[in-house]
Amino acid sequence: MTSYRSDYAWQPHGWEADTAFSVEHGRFAAIAEAAPADARLGRWVLPGMPNLHSHAFQRAMAGLAERQTNPEDSFWTWRETMYAFAGRVGPDELQAIAAQLYVEMLEAGYTQVCEFHYLHHQPDGRPYADAAAMSLALIDAAREAGIGLTLLPTLYQTGGFDGRELGERQRRFGHATDAYLALLQRLRSLESATVRVGVALHSLRAVPSASMQAVLDSGLVDDAPIHIHIAEQIGEVQDCLALRNARPVEWLLGNAPVDARWTLVHATHLTAEETRGIAASGAVAGLCPTTEANLGDGLFPLKEFLAADGVLGIGSDSHISVSPVEELRWLEYGQRLQSRHRNIAVSESSGSVGETLWGDALFGGARAAGAPLGAIESGARADLVVLDDAAPQLVAREPAHLLDTFVFSGNRNLVRDVMVAGQWCVRDGRHRDAERIAARYAAALKRIAV
Ligand code: ZN
Repeated sequence: MTSYRSDYAWQPHGWEADTAFSVEHGRFAAIAEAAPADARLGRWVLPGMPNLHSHAFQRAMAGLAERQTNPEDSFWTWRETMYAFAGRVGPDELQAIAAQLYVEMLEAGYTQVCEFHYLHHQPDGRPYADAAAMSLALIDAAREAGIGLTLLPTLYQTGGFDGRELGERQRRFGHATDAYLALLQRLRSLESATVRVGVALHSLRAVPSASMQAVLDSGLVDDAPIHIHIAEQIGEVQDCLALRNARPVEWLLGNAPVDARWTLVHATHLTAEETRGIAASGAVAGLCPTTEANLGDGLFPLKEFLAADGVLGIGSDSHISVSPVEELRWLEYGQRLQSRHRNIAVSESSGSVGETLWGDALFGGARAAGAPLGAIESGARADLVVLDDAAPQLVAREPAHLLDTFVFSGNRNLVRDVMVAGQWCVRDGRHRDAERIAARYAAALKRIAV
């Protein structure tokens, strides 16, 4: 058992001064005001942030879809670039890209990643010799980097609400329901203190309702996180209305047992009733503000959702940015630009935007990850972020303004040390295996360069 002390630790109710805590077998064992400490960590200690939405391979195409191909460029034209890139990624490339991404996540203060994984098969659609090869590449990458993983193998069966077959470049995403459940069962047998397995339904357009029902009835997801992309695009809302006679979130709330196990990723285009419905269900709204901005998706109704006590978390999704600070900053800035007001995301317990957003994203991210995260409390996994208290932005700050300064003071990374499950992954801003993982990433990228 190792004991630590910090001047301040962030707890669900706010900053706690002069905190001491012990770590044993990867978890917080005791939180005591006056315990002796083996090590003083620094002035500001936060729980690690869960990243609730990731497609790891997309990290390597950041910047490759920023040239206009058509004045009507949209999510749908971006998707064509993404499909072409995905076609060059095999298990070795995926592991190299994911490990590099996870190093960057850890250095930015994320300690858990929910991997919404649909790149299952060979580019022509045939399974690999080991049908779980791509899933195992992600597990290996997470283990190498030391980040916690919630692996969400994704069910993807149709190319649209009309049930059309997958297109040529979508074939490697697809499973028959039985094969999917076999994969899920196998992956669930690999769960550990740092690997959790749940389910992703790609979207309503890609998962027929009978298949969704079969997965929910399989007995494999009763205690597991369930994620789904939903209402990201207006076109998806229109198709759903045309073919299912309801808007996507309206349909899901009416036809699936949506509760706190569920994460609704994006949930951008909502009526007031749908917004309140998600909040009342306990499901997490999985917001990915930098990706949603990059893809031109639209803005989530944040103020209305918070007013209804909705639960939210953040994800870096396409990894156009890998920073919880930037996700939270753009979540707030989108609302300010739209409403022409300031300080939108506040709560009854705090008028601070930084405290509200950081605290909400910890709570919702832990729920989405299906893991005991997001708080420095007995029994929780020992994930910590120690801020650089010597950084100019933080030197004269008191607790009342600390998280606002962290979120809103610029681009210098203020994360100094990061612990996951009791192990230090990042010290003095640098990951313990950064050089080796970066060299392998560079070699992989050269192999698949356009
Ligand atoms: Zn996504």
